Amino acid sequence: MSNVAKARLFVPAALSGGAEVVLPPDQAHYLRHVLRLGEGDTVALFNGRDGEFHAVLSVVGKKEVRLLVGMQTRPFAAAADLWLCFAPIRQGRIEMVIEKATELGVGRLLPVQTRRCQIPKVNGERLSAIAREAAEQSERLDVPPIENLVTLEKLLAEWPKERRLYVCAERSEALPLLAALQPRPKDEPCALLVGPEGGFAPEELDAMLRHPAIVPVTLGQNILRAETAAIAALAILQAARQN
Ligand code: SAM
Repeated sequence: MSNVAKARLFVPAALSGGAEVVLPPDQAHYLRHVLRLGEGDTVALFNGRDGEFHAVLSVVGKKEVRLLVGMQTRPFAAAADLWLCFAPIRQGRIEMVIEKATELGVGRLLPVQTRRCQIPKVNGERLSAIAREAAEQSERLDVPPIENLVTLEKLLAEWPKERRLYVCAERSEALPLLAALQPRPKDEPCALLVGPEGGFAPEELDAMLRHPAIVPVTLGQNILRAETAAIAALAILQAARQN
């Protein structure tokens, strides 16, 4: 028996000292068979609203794993008010976008259908599971939601006017992202938009240039893959906000 947390899990249940949590089968399997934890072992739990807690495995049975919640180890703190809008890209690469965006502190993930996007739908359940695992691993206190796929037209029509949207526009004369961020307050609500593997259509770029919340930005002269562009832009944005 040890007081060091041997795993970190997101659970939907309310967390407070003395509460009991029953794990769903996949998490029970992970603790029992993958990590081979037993009664008395300690894990860390978080639920996206109550902070992080130590919890001790109190029952490790064939049918269920129960945990007794102990002391709070971190109070809740919301993630940065930063959204990532992204055109869905092919399998293998889209997972990387979700995982890295979660690690980089994105608060909300919004898939967006654009003209040249070749992927007609996204598997929200699978992407949510990836975001959950990335949040567990990166010691976040919440899991960013994956919103339903919307068209670019709808996204722009319903865009909240106080939230600046930095559109990553390849082959443009736009300002470098870092320069575009310079005079802005560090905690302003903002978002990034990254296009599909085929890039934005010219008429999409024209419509975006007329939108009052949009600031087109470049990430340099090289044409990056969409997942590279998303990761690079998020790293630049987070670095600028922490300065
Ligand atoms: N097929 C397009 C072309 O050849 O112009 C390239 C699209 S790129 C693979 C996918 C997305 O990544 C773009 O729509 C854009 O949002 C982003 N991106 C890639 N390189 C970029 C750059 N240098 N600056 C800004 N955005 C970039």
